[in-house]
Amino acid sequence: MEKVYRSLNEVREAIASGETNCVQLVETYLNRIEQHKHLNAFLEVFTGDALTKAKEVDGKIANGTAGKLAGMVMAIKDNICYKNHHVSASSKILEGFESLFSATAVERLLAEDAIIIGRTNCDEFAMGSSNENSAYGPVKNALDPTKVPGGSSGGSAVAVQADLCLASLGSDTGGSVRQPASFCNLVGLKPTYGRVSRWGLIAYASSFDQIGPFAHDVHDVAAIMEVISGGDEFDTTCSKREVPQLTENLTLDKKLKLTYFKSYIENDGLDPEVKERFYEIVGQLQAQGHTVEASEFEYLDYLVPTYYVLTTAEASSNLARFDGIHYGYRSPNAVDLESTYKLSRTEGFGREVKRRIMLGTYVLSAGFYDAYYAKGQKVRRLIKEKTESVLNEYDYILTPTSPHTPFELGKQNDDQIKMYLEDIYTAQAPLAGIPAISLPLGQHSNGLPFGVQVMGKSFDEQGLLAFSAYLMSNMN
Ligand code: GLN
Repeated sequence: MEKVYRSLNEVREAIASGETNCVQLVETYLNRIEQHKHLNAFLEVFTGDALTKAKEVDGKIANGTAGKLAGMVMAIKDNICYKNHHVSASSKILEGFESLFSATAVERLLAEDAIIIGRTNCDEFAMGSSNENSAYGPVKNALDPTKVPGGSSGGSAVAVQADLCLASLGSDTGGSVRQPASFCNLVGLKPTYGRVSRWGLIAYASSFDQIGPFAHDVHDVAAIMEVISGGDEFDTTCSKREVPQLTENLTLDKKLKLTYFKSYIENDGLDPEVKERFYEIVGQLQAQGHTVEASEFEYLDYLVPTYYVLTTAEASSNLARFDGIHYGYRSPNAVDLESTYKLSRTEGFGREVKRRIMLGTYVLSAGFYDAYYAKGQKVRRLIKEKTESVLNEYDYILTPTSPHTPFELGKQNDDQIKMYLEDIYTAQAPLAGIPAISLPLGQHSNGLPFGVQVMGKSFDEQGLLAFSAYLMSNMN
């Protein structure tokens, strides 16, 4: 088997020593993608473009003009636009659609010489927790193909997990980077809302959505964040705040004050081994001189309902543009304008997307707006303020990422409530707008991995990543 590398530093050393070059790296990944087709991680491989870019980057490395991400071969989730390439959000409704422009994140990656090797499968319009809602079939967990990889960015996670590329971009609205990272033994970050431009990210719930990276190590996540973060005139919600040198500040230089919420851990829904490992980590941190205190967050039961009221409302509005006229699929059975709308949407959207559009339309409707949408916004405000007040007292909040390890494919897809409860630990950060990361610190006796989540203050990606690097090298 060809050699694969697990970090950009390893790749750089291998290139510097002449052991490999970008073209060889891309060829290796192309072979591996072919060998792992059964995982269904990629919807399309950009063979020609990736090889062309690899040649170009090899030239730049030779003459000393290569960008920060030279040698990094990446995949992008199929809801992130790349000019003149297909993008479908894993939906039939965008079948055949080609992007007219690139997402700002993609442009910035390419400008720093990352190589984009393909687009990855995901839940349709990023709605899901298991990748079973894709119009192109489920993605399988590389460690055990009878298990789900998590969702909605499951293809981006498996692409890295199975070494089909070095790193990838996903998007996280309620957990879609962090939960698959937990299920696939990876590092996955959801940035602060507004840290990364959403320009060119197909919208699900615009006040929650953020693009976020997957990688094997914290350093690579930092390297990607350094490149994709920062102001963008095409996204008015994107902050102009300066982006710190993340990769050069990954050392933790102080003792921290940390907390976890007792009811999140002393919870029947939590797998006992995940709980045991969580307390083990708390113990180790304390032994290393950090303060870790139990505290309480009284809105746990409101996180998932608030998330689903608000995100479905935003989705019903965002997805109104897919009308059979502007983009992609148009029903061949339509005879007039109304049947064009109705049939194209009926035939083009999958079950879960339709369910959410209907739910969202309902919570926004005249008679129910106050009871659901307006109420949901008020609860979101409370959740945000309370979370921020906890973070005024503590540096970071620790939680499990997911209550359990990856579950069986097909097992949970008919129980919608159970599926929505998958977001129990991940919904809080996007509701509050704060950054959160999942770290691969757990190994279950069933052979499957699980993650630990760290939530931090808005725009403190630098501190969050430094603490993450510390956790990755100091926890036994
Ligand atoms: N599982 C959540 C949902 O289905 C999260 C999705 C996401 O973050 N895109 O909405």
